[in-house]
This record gives sequence, structure tokens and C-alpha cells, in this order.
Amino acid sequence: MTMTTTPVLLSRRNTPVHPAIPDLDRLNARFESAHPVEVIRWAVAMFGDSLCLTTSFQDTLLVDLAVSVDPEIEVVFLDTGFHFAETLDVLRRAQSRYSLHLRVERPEPDAADVWANGQEACCAARKVDPLDRALAGKVAWLSGLRRDDGGDRASSRILEVDRRGLVKVNPMAAWSADDADAYVQSHDVIRNPLFADGYTSVGCWPCTERPSAGADPRSGRWAGSAKTECGLHL
Ligand code: SF4
Repeated sequence: MTMTTTPVLLSRRNTPVHPAIPDLDRLNARFESAHPVEVIRWAVAMFGDSLCLTTSFQDTLLVDLAVSVDPEIEVVFLDTGFHFAETLDVLRRAQSRYSLHLRVERPEPDAADVWANGQEACCAARKVDPLDRALAGKVAWLSGLRRDDGGDRASSRILEVDRRGLVKVNPMAAWSADDADAYVQSHDVIRNPLFADGYTSVGCWPCTERPSAGADPRSGRWAGSAKTECGLHL
């Protein structure tokens, strides 16, 4: 009989991490009122090079926070092929300002697309699969989720375990829009110029069909359909 064993993941400190992080609840309680930089500092110390950051470059808020802790942190951008020119310009400006350790992950050449295959297949091929590739070999990742983005995000914890078994760190989960805006202003964070046109959330151009309306900042994403998430945060 063939025996398989689960590899033991080791942190920078050479101590076992998830699934042997024994005190996720205690850490979440500790970090609930902590500044995101404190959370990121903990994650960088714990996971080292096995940690990366993902961003859609609708702004450089998470990037700014993270590089203040670790300028060498790997920054993953999923180039779906459908980003606004304005978003790619945020990426260009971010690279100029921060000299990022950037990893751009692209879809396969024959990847499904929104026109021929629909939104679910397109997101799977152009976001979820590339993220899976980017996270292969990682132990943990940073995301910019905030609870007050609404929807399923309202229940986000600061530390979670994702469907891959990786530790997903949401340092800004407890931040309000006002908290985020205050940091953006005080740190001159780069923002997508589409915000000035009334957009409150910026994704791929075929699925960000109009400036957002009402209280839900993500209502302009996949407008007119029941879809509210691309699948990256499942
Ligand atoms: S948001 Fe739209 S265009 Fe972008 S990957 Fe998903 S379905 Fe495709």
C-alpha cells in the first residue's frame, strides 16, 4: 500500500505553521483592533518568502501598507486581459514609486473569455486559475478585503484559512471606508482615476459596466447579474 504524508509547512522561524497554527481565534481577537501594519508585520515575520500580496491595482492601499513593512514582498497582479487602461496606469505608477517585486500572472492562451463563455468561466480561467498558480508553493497571502465592502465580505476575518488550506490574511478587514480614505489621503496613495468619475469599485471593464449606484460600493460590478464575486475569495 502506498502511504502519502501531508508536508509540514515551516515558517521563516522554522516552526510549523498552518494547519498547526493553534490559535487562529486568539490571533483574530488580538488583531481585531490592531493597525493593518501590525498584522502585516506579524505575517511577514511568520511566513517570510512564503507570503505574497495580491492586488487588482484599483489603488495602492494594501501595497503601501505592505511595502512599509517589507519592500521585497512579492506582489501578485492577475492580468485578465480586460483591465481598464486606467488600472494598468496605476500599476505603472506603483512600479515607478515602489519598485515592486512584481509577479504578473496571465491566463492560458486559450482561456475562456466573457464574450464566448460567460462570466463564470471567464473569471475561473482569468482570475481563479492564475491565482492558484501564483499561490502554488506559498503558505499565506495578503488580500485587501474589507468588511464594509458588503456582501459576503461582511463576515471576513483578519486571519482565515482558504479553500487551498493557505492562511489568508486580510489586514484591513476591520477598517471602515473612512479609515481607508484617511490612510489614502495621509499617504498620498495612488487611486484609479475612475473613482473621480463616480466608480466606487473597479474591476475588468466588461464587468464594471457603470459607475456604482446607491450604498453598495460594489454594485457596479457584474451589474444586472446575480454575480457579486469573481471567486478569488472563496
Ligand atoms: S470580471 Fe469579467 S472580464 Fe474579468 S475575469 Fe471576470 S468575467 Fe472575465
